[in-house]
Amino acid sequence: MLFGRNRKNPIKITDKGVVKWTYSTCGYCSTGCAIEVGTDAEGKVVASRGVGSADVNRGKLCVKGIFEHELFESSGRGDNPLLRESRSEAYREVDWDTALDHMADEIKRIQSQYGRDAFAVVSTGQLLTEEFYTLGKLVRGVIGTNNYDGNTTLCMASAVSGYKRSFGSDGPPGSYEDFEHTDCLIAWGSNLPEQHPIIYWRLQEALEKRKFPVIVVDPRVTMLAQKADMHLAITPGTDVVLLNALMHVILEEGLEDREYIEANTVGFEQLEKEVQKYDPVTASKICGIDEDTIRNVARLYAKADAAMSIWTMGINQSTHGSDGVVGINNLNLITGNIGKPGGTSLSITGQCNAMGTREWSSCSGLPGYRLLENKEDREEVAKFWNVDPEFFPKKRGLTETDIFPAIELGEIKGLWLVATNPMTSMPNTTRIRKTLEKLEFLVVQDSYADVETVQYAHLYLPAATWAEKEGVFTNTERRVNIVRQVTTPYGNTKSDLQIFNEVAKRWEQSKKMKFPEKPAEVFEEMRQLSKGRLVDISGMDHDLIEEKRGIQWPYTEEQRKKGEEPPRGGKRLYTEPGTFRFADGMAKLIPLPFIDNNEVPDEQFPFWLNSGRLVEHFHTRTKTGKIGNNNKFSPIPFMEMNPNAAAELGIQHQEYVRCVSRRGDAIVMAMLTQRVPENMVFIPFHFHDCVNRLTLGLLDPHSRQPAYKQSAVRVEPIEDQEAAARMSMERRAF
Ligand code: SF4
Repeated sequence: MLFGRNRKNPIKITDKGVVKWTYSTCGYCSTGCAIEVGTDAEGKVVASRGVGSADVNRGKLCVKGIFEHELFESSGRGDNPLLRESRSEAYREVDWDTALDHMADEIKRIQSQYGRDAFAVVSTGQLLTEEFYTLGKLVRGVIGTNNYDGNTTLCMASAVSGYKRSFGSDGPPGSYEDFEHTDCLIAWGSNLPEQHPIIYWRLQEALEKRKFPVIVVDPRVTMLAQKADMHLAITPGTDVVLLNALMHVILEEGLEDREYIEANTVGFEQLEKEVQKYDPVTASKICGIDEDTIRNVARLYAKADAAMSIWTMGINQSTHGSDGVVGINNLNLITGNIGKPGGTSLSITGQCNAMGTREWSSCSGLPGYRLLENKEDREEVAKFWNVDPEFFPKKRGLTETDIFPAIELGEIKGLWLVATNPMTSMPNTTRIRKTLEKLEFLVVQDSYADVETVQYAHLYLPAATWAEKEGVFTNTERRVNIVRQVTTPYGNTKSDLQIFNEVAKRWEQSKKMKFPEKPAEVFEEMRQLSKGRLVDISGMDHDLIEEKRGIQWPYTEEQRKKGEEPPRGGKRLYTEPGTFRFADGMAKLIPLPFIDNNEVPDEQFPFWLNSGRLVEHFHTRTKTGKIGNNNKFSPIPFMEMNPNAAAELGIQHQEYVRCVSRRGDAIVMAMLTQRVPENMVFIPFHFHDCVNRLTLGLLDPHSRQPAYKQSAVRVEPIEDQEAAARMSMERRAF
């Protein structure tokens, strides 16, 4: 019993006067946590809390979700469109009609002067799926440029490309539930506790019930590596070598699943021939993992009843990103670990709706994973939208990372950026700045007027954010969940859906098409178009999605009519033999020769530069940089450096240093830690004018995703620490 002086104070939770909780889905990362947002008696948004009955997060939220309600009124929100004729002028506020008329006139001028593809569109993974679908209809069916992409090329393109090459379609085949069934897990370049804290908590929960080995492959001693049973500190950019070596051991020792290989795959002989070259001794010299460890991990993985791999940017952001994903798929296919509980290749996506854009935005094709290259797909969508199928291009245009060089070359003259911030997120930002300055017309559509890219624009369109509007997101495990409107759009902002619909009206072509105004009506179009596709959502509607706290696709109309409870059938893909998305139903085993094309450390630039996330921030801090607690916990850019390397250069803990690459320099505070090896430094990627002043960003040949994590830098001490601190602060966006 606790009496008197021994009595502890119970934790006091401030009563915020919430009178109503509204169901929604977190708008930051792809975990897809269900969240309730509280409003007080005056309708003011005052609190956020996790939803206990939602399977994804079971009541939990991370530090971003807990404070998410603060973003509606956070600083920097734009409330009126801003226009200027040239960059030397100051912006003036204009009404929406003036802004959108001007925008349509400029797009039409550029297209008639230079050709349809001279105007490009780059969107995001942040919008609602109904908005992505509508933007795709506008770009593909009305404006008609083929240079249309999303910023997901910077984070998930390699996963998409790898899934398509191995399985014939995008679409992660597994679920979080696989943690509860697996007997061995390898995390490739994935630091769950910082990147996806609630997925990490699901993994921990599974481990508490039943122990299984967790192996982390990462050049840095990440938080997940610290918790793992084995940490393989791989040489950056050599995952393909390690994967080939693991398969070499598995095949040499006869540990493969022959029955599964024969029933489900083609290409085994070619794969076997290639991996024969990667014996553990040879491979260890390239990837830095000793031969015994390679053998032990191979045996552990192949002998497990069910084994799974997860990965994030450590695989994707590489010149071998797509090959890395194919390598993981190869490993799982030869060990029979696709489509069964606990056996899967699960890419952990980045943004809250990166999956939604992959499925429905038409960036890389047409909605519902349809292809521009496929005549039937073009005709089907053209008929549904009432456009001429010949209006569609017959193959995909440029990705985001190829759009910027095309601007440099003068091939693209106008650009529409939607909720993306390349001045912070693209590699080599000095070059991006010069590129943006070449544009005849740049329009930026964003919820925040202070996003860095607005400085280079001619027109700024203020958009409503997250739960100021309504629609769905799809999370990493293909779960469609709903964002309900919690509050009215800020100031004079419009939802992205409204903006797209208003833009469409300015083209004659749109008059014979439908651009529904209500998100539920847009969802109905997607539902119709999804029938019979891998991404079949025909059994869903907004109300059912909320009732079930999210539903994993596929969930078909037939399943619903038969009374089957969602998410039956949606937990895993490719559960039956011969159901891969190639014409013959077989998955492809693809040989992966390794070519070392990274920028590697040398005498002049002796450190690997690695970058990644912090738990407090999301992407370029457009949102979290304004939220008190997130910003207080993690206010400044810093650089992790090994104490031995620092001692050699005479650098003390928490001193400012200059980090220099062949592209530029950044002033950062050195944090001395054993988390990085002596030949590596690590800088978080969230901060403006920081790590991406340094990165090279060579592109993956298949996915066109940049290699953010393989560049070379040197570190220089700075004598005048006060001046360095000032410069570091000045370079911060907020
Ligand atoms: Fe939001 Fe991701 Fe945190 Fe969940 S883990 S609360 S989805 S940021």
